[in-house]
This record gives sequence, C-alpha cells and structure tokens, in this order.
Amino acid sequence: MPDLLELLRQRPVVCAEGYLFECERRGYLQAGAFVPEVVLEHPEVIEGLHREFVHAGSDVVEAFTYYGHREKLRVIGKEDILEPLNRQAIAIASRVARDTGALLAGNLCNTNVYEPGAAAERTVRSAFEEQVSWAAEVGVDFVIAETFSWAGEALLALEAIRAAGLPAVVTFAVHREGTLRDVVSPADACRQAAQAGADVVGLNCIRGPLTMLPLLAPIRAAVSCPVAALPVPYRTTEAQPSMQALRDPARGGAQAFPTALDPFTCTRHELGDFATAAVGLGVRYLGICCGAGPHHVRAVAEAIGEAPPASRYSPDMSKHSFLGSDPGITESYREYAPDL
Ligand SMILES: [Zn+2]
Repeated sequence: MPDLLELLRQRPVVCAEGYLFECERRGYLQAGAFVPEVVLEHPEVIEGLHREFVHAGSDVVEAFTYYGHREKLRVIGKEDILEPLNRQAIAIASRVARDTGALLAGNLCNTNVYEPGAAAERTVRSAFEEQVSWAAEVGVDFVIAETFSWAGEALLALEAIRAAGLPAVVTFAVHREGTLRDVVSPADACRQAAQAGADVVGLNCIRGPLTMLPLLAPIRAAVSCPVAALPVPYRTTEAQPSMQALRDPARGGAQAFPTALDPFTCTRHELGDFATAAVGLGVRYLGICCGAGPHHVRAVAEAIGEAPPASRYSPDMSKHSFLGSDPGITESYREYAPDL
C-alpha cells in the first residue's frame, strides 16, 4: 500500500470510523462517559471490528483511542490506564494493518475541556502530545485529528502531530448552527488547518449525508489539499441537521441521541449515493463516523469503484426466490409474496 498522500493522488480513500458507537451497541462500552476501556477489557472485539471494516473496504485502520485521552479518563477516575489503553489500541490496530496491508492511523479527538485561553490550551496541548508520542513510537502512517467544534483545539492537535513529523488528517464537527465555536465558517476553519500544515482537511461526525453534503463544496473551494467527508449514517434533515438534533415522532418527539438513533439509520444505498456525490464535488477521503456498519463501508468503497473482499457477498437479487430472474423461480412462488 502506498502512503496516504500517494494513495489519495491515485484514487479516493476510504476510512471506516464509528468504533465507539459500534462497541456500545455490541455491549462492550458504556454510553455516557463513552471511554474505550474495551481496548483493554476485550481487545479481541476491537481487533475483529478492525478486520471487518478492512474486509468491507476501509483503506485505513484507525487506532481506537477516541476519547482515550487524559481528560476523559480523569472523569471516570482511571488516569492510570491512560498509557496502557493508548499503547494497546495502537498495537491492535498495527497488527491488523500489518496483516491486511491497510494504512495505520493514530487518533486525537475533541477533549471537551478546551476553551480559548492559556490554561486550557496548556492542558489540551500536553494531552495531545502524549497521545501522539505513543502513536509515533509504533510508527503510524498518519494521525487523524477529528470531531473538533473548536478550530483552535484542532490547531493544537495539528501542532502536536506535525511536531512528531507525521502527516495529519484534520476534520471538524459542525453542529446544527452550521458554524464552529470560534470560527463562523467550516470552510474558513479548514483553510486555517490547511495553512497550518494539515495534509487533509474536512468534516466528520454529527451530520448525516444530507446535511453534510451542502458544506463540502465551499471547503473544496477554500483549500488545495485533499478534502475529507465522514458523515454519521443517520437521516438528518434541514430542520434537524445533526444526530443530536434528531427527535423521534414514534417516541413522542424524544431526543434520539445517543441510544435511540436506530430508526434514523441510513441504508447502505444512501451512503453509496453520498460517496458518489461527494466525489463529484472533489472529495477524496471518504468514510463514515458514529453508527457505521460494515455494509455502509462496503457501499462507500464500491461507490468509488473499489471491490473489497466483502464485495464477494454483495447483493445479487437475480438469485432471490421471489425477486429473482432465474428461470427456475416459478410464478406460483411469486404469488406467495404479494407484498413485493
Ligand atoms: Zn462520530
């Protein structure tokens, strides 16, 4: 596998994310604190999920250190597992990347303690520096800095990654207002990150395909580096543009985030359509964030013209008992399926 930037010159790249939600859904991670202790407690689950995502078409194995930083571990009183958790996450991802030939990515994310000002910046900077140092020791191919709603915090993450001499993918999370907390326009935030040396800039998380897509063209126009787009696979709308804003009419308008988003889940076809549209706008780095399943990843990979190992099992309805075109399928069987 060529390095990330060379691969991006050759073709669009797919990066599967969403480990936090998927581990929670499977019963290995607690919603609320959302700390990835599963990395230490059930490493086999993480390794299996990495392998499933690569099988489905992810070019990247992203170490599961999301929310595995000092501030989150302080909240649950477990700062002592910070370093083992980070080292183990990178070791698991590294093993899968080596076995499969995928790219290996380290990960930094929003700390939830950042605010402009020297004190918070010092805390956040040192949290990023220690995480990057553990990733750099293993020799990751690049580091993903993601889900930032503060441009200033993203720039701190970028500084730490660049100081370690590693390529950086920087992506922002755009809440319902359509702005970042310290920069009005997502395109301006991406421009700032690109000017500060990010190799890829764009958006991840929070917004579903329909409400992320309109934000991409201005970003593409604002920067010359590759652009990233990793929506959540939920049916967000103009009125409810983020997964946090979704309200479920079947539950009296209750908030769906984070544990009742199921009825809003996009089909694989919607993610494939998103990938096609995003590539049409010039996006080169595609993926799916919280809520992603392997079927979504495969649909994105196939939309950009790839045929990952999982494509061997992609749907073929010509063989279906009722929907199929095979001459062996009799009319009498079709009669038993009036709903079709
Ligand atoms: Zn996410």
